[in-house]
Amino acid sequence: MIKKQFEKFDNKIWLSSPTMHGEEIKYIQEAYDTNWMSTVGANLNEVERLAAEKVGVKYAVALSAGTASLHLSCKLAGIQAYGMPAVGHGALEGHRVFCTDMTFDATVNPVVYEGGIPVFIDTEDDTWNMDPVALEKAFEIYPEVKVVVCAHLYGTPGKIDELNKIIKAHDAILVEDAAESLGATYKGVQTGSFGAFNTISFNGNKIITGSAGGCFLTNSKDAAEKVRKWSTQAREAAPWYQHEELGYNYRMSNVVAGVVRGQFPHLEEHIAQKKAIYERYKAAFADLPVQMNPIDFKNSEPNYWLSCLIIDKDAMCPQVRGEQDVLYTPKPGKSCPTEILDAIASINAEGRPIWKPMHMQPIYRLNPFITREGNGRAVTNAYIQGGALGADGKILDRGSDIFARGLCLPSDNKMTPEQQDRIIEVVRACFE
Ligand SMILES: *Cc1c(COP(=O)(O)O)cnc(C)c1O
Repeated sequence: MIKKQFEKFDNKIWLSSPTMHGEEIKYIQEAYDTNWMSTVGANLNEVERLAAEKVGVKYAVALSAGTASLHLSCKLAGIQAYGMPAVGHGALEGHRVFCTDMTFDATVNPVVYEGGIPVFIDTEDDTWNMDPVALEKAFEIYPEVKVVVCAHLYGTPGKIDELNKIIKAHDAILVEDAAESLGATYKGVQTGSFGAFNTISFNGNKIITGSAGGCFLTNSKDAAEKVRKWSTQAREAAPWYQHEELGYNYRMSNVVAGVVRGQFPHLEEHIAQKKAIYERYKAAFADLPVQMNPIDFKNSEPNYWLSCLIIDKDAMCPQVRGEQDVLYTPKPGKSCPTEILDAIASINAEGRPIWKPMHMQPIYRLNPFITREGNGRAVTNAYIQGGALGADGKILDRGSDIFARGLCLPSDNKMTPEQQDRIIEVVRACFE
């Protein structure tokens, strides 16, 4: 049920799709012509050089995915139970790890691959990233925690200085998930360089892509060498296949690296295009009861990977989300993410709900969740519009509220201003 029907696009406008430039095919061809079609070659070496140089770290290891890098970061961070042998024994319960709550599940799953227990930290309004106040609260409740996994949502850096101060004060380490934020800076420093072990991604919809792939980034030579070894099945320097540690097949292919290599020179251009898209939406929606995804302009320069909006509370029409289905009631002058996403889809364009917070996911429903006030699980039985309300009616849980009222807009950098104008009209019509 859409308030007003607009003309459909002949070719779909994607949320964020790969944008190729021509150099990619040259490097793929080079790999083919020289027969470096495996996990060794000039493209790989060059991707590692470019990634380390761009982010400003000493070492980069090119891997098959960002998720692989997060997994090996968690392994390095040592979140398995103390004394837990790698193989040959049943699983023991590993350590608790503080994790960003409102993110893609690839931030968090690697903690579980290593036998750790994710403890979700609520989101803050200023940047939609991990709330430093909630993190401090979490250390009060679980002072023994030694690892914090932190993502920069939609390319906007979180409050890294404040988070890192708390992390260091508790003698813990940061595992940074900069999968969405390559090229974004905080106080002039690139994301992907703030943690002990860091990740960027070249997944198909990221700011630059290899069709797939990721990089592990660090200033520790020892960590880089371990990741290089583990990612290629952990062979020892023996004449035969000698194994003393658990290995993985996580290395990037030299063909994929050719694509990444061809994309790197276009990173800043992609960021400029995405920034223009964000600013056009922002200007066009200035008089609607919505806000764009928040940016801490004083300290950070995002990469503007995705443009998002959040509807003001009093402009929300009733919307109820179950685990798989959703219902809403259209109201004049009001809207909700579902209505807007349906309207965008009706003209052959792609939006997306905000990442559903991990503490709301069935798979993680039993994991601890910490808000500014303390145990977020103590209040989550009182969902109203997806936001958990305390007895005084104050919203205690930011993540579920942003999920209820927010959405990602079509943010493809090949979208023309004219195409974006039509999407803007469609969104505006939802509030008629
Ligand atoms: C894309 C993404 C990842 C995973 O990267 P892949 O390369 O797809 O494995 C991890 N974390 C976040 C926040 C992401 O958006």
